[in-house]
Amino acid sequence: MSESKLKGVQGLPDYGTRTDEITIFAGPCAVESYEQFATVAEVIAEEGLHWIRGGAFKPRTNPHSFQGLGEAGLQIMQEAGKKYGLKTLTEVMDSAHCPMVHSYVDGLQIGARNCQNFSLLRTVGQVTADTDKLVLFKRGLANSVSEWLSATEYITMNGNENVMLCERGLRTFETSTRFTLDISAVPVIHKQSLYPICVDVSHPAGVRDLVPPLARAAIAAGCDAIMVEVHPDPQNAKSDNAQQLTPAQFKDLLADLREIAAVFGKK
Ligand code: PEP
Ligand code: MN
Repeated sequence: MSESKLKGVQGLPDYGTRTDEITIFAGPCAVESYEQFATVAEVIAEEGLHWIRGGAFKPRTNPHSFQGLGEAGLQIMQEAGKKYGLKTLTEVMDSAHCPMVHSYVDGLQIGARNCQNFSLLRTVGQVTADTDKLVLFKRGLANSVSEWLSATEYITMNGNENVMLCERGLRTFETSTRFTLDISAVPVIHKQSLYPICVDVSHPAGVRDLVPPLARAAIAAGCDAIMVEVHPDPQNAKSDNAQQLTPAQFKDLLADLREIAAVFGKK
């Protein structure tokens, strides 16, 4: 199919990506050790990508599950990020941790469970106001686009407009996937806001084999970024072991995504 056919019919708005280059936020669900994190960092750097993600503070449903390495995890991220020339993205869950997290990483993630934690949103906006570090702001499990966009203002009105939104699936009656990915959020966010939109394809999938089709759909829908979990040994991961890709699976996926992005004139 020719590019012009895919890019839209004359007279209709183009809800394509906001940038020429689609950003990939890949990395393990949780930072578990330097070796684990650096293995993924090496793969990401080899692929010519710019960011690595990883959780040092994990929002676990069960308080007895692995909660993350905390500050030690942030140190690992910083060290591996420097070594492999990658920017780092991690979730901050607690207002009290914001200055510390901000001092270690290049991007701060606000997780789905904190989409309407207004005091955290305010603090993240304040703490990043001088550096304008990226804030990746996830949609809540049961938040409308309108609630999500209103919440975004708690960040931006405090001084940082470098916000990227992230769709990560909703809680619905459907149980065949972990969450129901709202792919329409991509064009809707482009229509209703000026923010770029990322699609987290791992958490809605819940299982590895569903990750590639969701990622392909997200690129075709015009997303600006993809988040995908990658682990050197997914079976033995301390969190989300069913959905993380192996490095080999990740490389295959990237090859597919590059082809789809090229159709839309993106890389
Ligand atoms: C994550 O990205 O590590 C995460 C916990 O995602 P979410 O907040 O979307 O559940
Ligand atoms: Mn995870």
